[in-house]
Amino acid sequence: MSTATIALDNRFARELSELAVPWKAEEFPDPRLLVLDERLAADLGLDAAWLRTPDGVRFLTGNAVPEGATPVAQAYSGHQFGGFSPRLGDGRALLLGEITDTAGRIRDLHLKGSGRTPFARGGDGLAAVGPMLREYVISRAMSGLGIPTTRSLAVVATGATVYRETPLPGAVLARVASSHLRVGTFQFAQLTGDVDLLRKVADHAIARHHPDAAGAANPYRALFEAVVAAQASLVARWMLVGFVHGVMNTDNMTISGETIDYGPCAFMDAFDPAAVYSSIDHGGRYAYGNQPVVAEWNLARLAEALLPLVDPDQDRAVELAVESLGGYRRLYGEAFSAGMHAKLGLPAGFDDPGLVDDLLTLLRDSRVDFTSFFRDLSAADASVHFVDVAAFGEWRERWRAVGPDTAAMDRVNPVYVPRNHLVEEALAAATDDDDLGPLERLVEAVSRPFDVRPGLDRYAAPAPPDFGAYRTFCGT
Ligand code: AMP
Ligand code: MG
Ligand code: MG
Repeated sequence: MSTATIALDNRFARELSELAVPWKAEEFPDPRLLVLDERLAADLGLDAAWLRTPDGVRFLTGNAVPEGATPVAQAYSGHQFGGFSPRLGDGRALLLGEITDTAGRIRDLHLKGSGRTPFARGGDGLAAVGPMLREYVISRAMSGLGIPTTRSLAVVATGATVYRETPLPGAVLARVASSHLRVGTFQFAQLTGDVDLLRKVADHAIARHHPDAAGAANPYRALFEAVVAAQASLVARWMLVGFVHGVMNTDNMTISGETIDYGPCAFMDAFDPAAVYSSIDHGGRYAYGNQPVVAEWNLARLAEALLPLVDPDQDRAVELAVESLGGYRRLYGEAFSAGMHAKLGLPAGFDDPGLVDDLLTLLRDSRVDFTSFFRDLSAADASVHFVDVAAFGEWRERWRAVGPDTAAMDRVNPVYVPRNHLVEEALAAATDDDDLGPLERLVEAVSRPFDVRPGLDRYAAPAPPDFGAYRTFCGT
């Protein structure tokens, strides 16, 4: 294999040139491959052994570009913590192009940390090793959990220094996504006032992600409804594993329904609807328990962007969009409830929302470790987690009386999630000691999250008490 033999399309650059600035990655002095997802490479038809060679690494940093490819920085807008920024775009990222995987699916190959672009504003265009490895491990975990996500193909240390509070080693992440179309992509297109452009973006999104919408009576309304359904399902999946995204801005919400942008995210340990980990989320806008309503708010922004396409009569378009958005709560509620039933091993047709609600209250009151609880419930004595043991005992009697299927529970409740203290430990070893061992072992554990294996006990255990309150950071 060589760069010359890789077929990278430039469909986004071609079809949506108004949203694409042809651009080049920065040349890095001393690139060194840190981690590579060999399975993903194989799925993409890329030879892992070649990706490890100097030529392969040049390809993974955007310094060797296959013929016919047109790397671009993508334009998009976004509501960040509720405030609108009309011109965000890829400030430190590039879409290298689209690759057709071995299953025939079109997937974006994208770089993060590849240098300044025209959208960089005050930023340096770079990324540090730690945060890129963080995206690598958490996206591996999400994929192992079966949750739709962008994937991390590789992290390459660039040899350059990135200046944050301290000097840090720089890195480029090679990311794979079914596309990088975001709510913010539509906001950008709508803002241009060019309805033909907006329609082109919508047609591109329909073709790539929601092809059934093309045959609907109102294709653009159907596109909106497909995104509503995909996001309702996605956010329910997050809630069911205790995932806190941390920066659910409209530029970080995909049209495909994949999780994107692993910045300040974290897996919740102690169950708490108010759980916030991001150091900049002072108001708790993106707290665990707010995620379902924030997703709905973001979808309302998508609806606004699509209004010119939904109906020529804008009053009518608003009516239709509001009606379609109304489906979100029902779809989210159904997905969450079905998922909770599975987590508790409840039989089909069981209908007592009080059982779940009462449990969540007990979990919150005792700040119970969310991941351990569901595994212990099926096997061990889960009462150790509770302050009010009697109240939990009563709940457990109600639950047992239903006749739960505990073997089925273990197929949906993960044992291993990327616990915050283990992520930090792995990133510190990689950054400070050049030791990727802890990261590799963590990835191995979380990439098969349901599968208990000997010797991995520490990956299943909550943080030691002295780990303290956890804080995450974005944009590093
Ligand atoms: P995020 O919070 O990761 O979604 O990023 C928001 C915006 O900031 C996007 O437009 C990014 O491209 C941009 N950005 C983040 N970090 C940098 C950086 N170091 N240099 C340039 N742009 C950046
Ligand atoms: Mg982003
Ligand atoms: Mg980010």
